[in-house]
Amino acid sequence: MLRSIPKLVRSNARSYSSGASPLGMSFSLNEEQKSIQEMARKFTREEIIPVAAEHDRTGKYPTEIIKKAWELGLVNTHVEAKYGGLDLGVMDSAIISEELAFGCTGIQTAIEANNLAEAPLVVAGNDFQKKKYLGRMTEAPLVASYGVTEPGAGSDVAGLRTQAVKKSDGSWVLNGQKMWITNAGHANWFFVLARTDANANTGNAFTGFIVDADSAGITVGRKEINMGQRASDTRGVTFEDVVIPAENVLGTEGKGFKIAMNAFDITRPLVAAGAIGLARRAMEEATNYSLERKTMGKPIFNHQAISFMLADMAIGIESARMMVYRSACMRDQGEKNTWHASIAKALASEVANKSAADAVQIFGGNGFNTEYPVEKLMRDAKIFQIYEGTSQIQRLIISRGLADMAKSGASALGGF
Ligand SMILES: Cc1cc2nc3c(=O)[nH]c(=O)nc-3n(C[C@H](O)[C@H](O)[C@H](O)COP(=O)(O)OP(=O)(O)OC[C@H]3O[C@@H](n4cnc5c(N)ncnc54)[C@H](O)[C@@H]3O)c2cc1C
Repeated sequence: MLRSIPKLVRSNARSYSSGASPLGMSFSLNEEQKSIQEMARKFTREEIIPVAAEHDRTGKYPTEIIKKAWELGLVNTHVEAKYGGLDLGVMDSAIISEELAFGCTGIQTAIEANNLAEAPLVVAGNDFQKKKYLGRMTEAPLVASYGVTEPGAGSDVAGLRTQAVKKSDGSWVLNGQKMWITNAGHANWFFVLARTDANANTGNAFTGFIVDADSAGITVGRKEINMGQRASDTRGVTFEDVVIPAENVLGTEGKGFKIAMNAFDITRPLVAAGAIGLARRAMEEATNYSLERKTMGKPIFNHQAISFMLADMAIGIESARMMVYRSACMRDQGEKNTWHASIAKALASEVANKSAADAVQIFGGNGFNTEYPVEKLMRDAKIFQIYEGTSQIQRLIISRGLADMAKSGASALGGF
């Protein structure tokens, strides 16, 4: 039966009294989020921006910055209060990620990688595992790693070859090689996805494990020299007959693929938020420069070709941020956000790359030089289209979602 408008208004009024906006959605941060943003912004201004270029030049891991960020509660944000954490939502964490990324996405990625390692525990960990492994992250400024990708399989997670074999006492023996693992050189523990059934389908073939980094049989490779985000630490890791106790199996045996993928519902909005932080930095640097630099008798900002590039940056940033906030809020409200998180990640990473490249263009010859901040942004931006699922993989998820909606008679456009 159709409901009348006054009845709908009355039911909206009820939901407002329980915290929702009378208009159905709110575009404002609450007071707590505004203060989180202010604190993260101040931290970035005082602690990250002054040293970002040096970390980029030397590749030095930002141990001291992580320690200071940890002391302020800017790391491990979603660990529940009962395990010593701040119990912040994905939305709160996205606000922090954008601010840290404004300063340096290499440093932000080193911090963000903790969220990625912890997300499988948030999704599937039991009380013992959360207390032991998430709890310790709140007791000391430790870092952890998410180990899924291998030399032969990144996008094709089903093609992983790392294997774990169960022993008669219930413990497991892990063998294999992981690649491109962020924070690996400093990790206290790893989340590792390994094949545990050679014959099962993908949904039943893999198990997620928590592996202590000091376990015998682990060899961490050299720090990779990457195009950008050089403060972050990326390495290969080899596991040779590493014994994992039974208590470190995450969730149900054989169900690791889903756990590893569900973790992205938490982290993709945060990676997208990082990309927006970078794009915002590009826009601000380029706007300031264009107001100062003069050609043909006027600031280059007054050439429409330049100011329209800046306008396009603003269009991209504002739109992508809306998708980040939407996908983050959906997760915080217990709604399935995989599809929206993929849209946020695909869009934000493209906005970051276009904004950084256009910022270099606006700086002219200076933009190509390391004395100015924008060439770093262009190098740093590229990885946003690759890690945590490439832009093609996001489109795979988005297009498959469209097909599913079409088959079930649902409308993507009526997503609200
Ligand atoms: C700096 C850095 C940090 C990283 N950190 C981590 C980490 O902490 N933990 C971790 O587990 N991994 C990490 N990764 C790995 C990252 O997630 C993978 O590199 C990424 O998923 C892509 O996998 P790949 O490199 O094997 O590329 P491939 O999967 O070989 O893809 C190559 C190209 O083919 C495209 N492609 C592949 N399959 C399809 C398809 N079906 N349809 C269309 N196009 C397709 C891809 O989009 C890409 O353009 C990191 C990588 C880097 C570079």
